[in-house]
Amino acid sequence: MLVEQDLSLELLPNGGWDSRIEVVQVGDLVRSHLIYTENFTVVYDTLLGPLSGAFLAGRVAERGKPVLVVDSHSDWDHYWGNQCFSGPILGLQLTAERILGRFGREELVKKSGEHPSYRAVKLVPPNVRLSGETVLDGGDLTLQLLHTPGHRPDHLALYIPEIRTLLPGDAVETPFALLDESSPSEDLKQMQSTLQRFLALDVDWLLCNHAPPQAGKDLVRSNLEFYRRLVTLADLSDSVESLMRQFPYEGPEDADFYRQDHARICKAAWAAAHP
Ligand SMILES: [Zn+2]
Repeated sequence: MLVEQDLSLELLPNGGWDSRIEVVQVGDLVRSHLIYTENFTVVYDTLLGPLSGAFLAGRVAERGKPVLVVDSHSDWDHYWGNQCFSGPILGLQLTAERILGRFGREELVKKSGEHPSYRAVKLVPPNVRLSGETVLDGGDLTLQLLHTPGHRPDHLALYIPEIRTLLPGDAVETPFALLDESSPSEDLKQMQSTLQRFLALDVDWLLCNHAPPQAGKDLVRSNLEFYRRLVTLADLSDSVESLMRQFPYEGPEDADFYRQDHARICKAAWAAAHP
């Protein structure tokens, strides 16, 4: 089916991960995850707006269990389907503040100008506002919500120990996770400690928002290695230009988005190393 921005939404066939998790993908843009436990169903991110959000809401309603939404963070492509859910929407207090403040408003204006389908979006913040980490006891599965800043300060990843499955949100991505834009030195520290924390977990399956579902945690390792090398080389470089020569963009050739973000992250790392 077609959803916002005329992107196609599909339910991915299970590739070997636990059958209690469904992966819903929109174009090449983003994924949401539905987790069916004994006690309730969790929707980890609500996608792009009322069309994609309605698909998720309809899908989970079929199971007849209570539905909990968890917002991974306040970037538009993860929570703009919130308006389709009438029950509890969990997220950090900071996520609600960002959605209700300038950050949320400006994203909505920008995206509405890019495509008319976004004009139907209503900004709905979490209504169960967490001040930190928490655990959801699904009965058969334990869902640990991990506060994992670096990509955004309000970021929640989700780890399920019984099935050694990590849903890292946007904190792990192909070719690299994107860094927040608030304070270069703090953001870089947080990103590395978040990735180190993931690496210490037992992970059989890694289900990312912006990377294909995959077994093992190689992508966590390579994202961490990316940031460690960047920080080391930034220390040794006498200019941003020399840093970018020593740490060139190595993502897909045609991915301007990542190429530009690589340049931005290099500038941030150099600024952090040379205050
Ligand atoms: Zn994001």
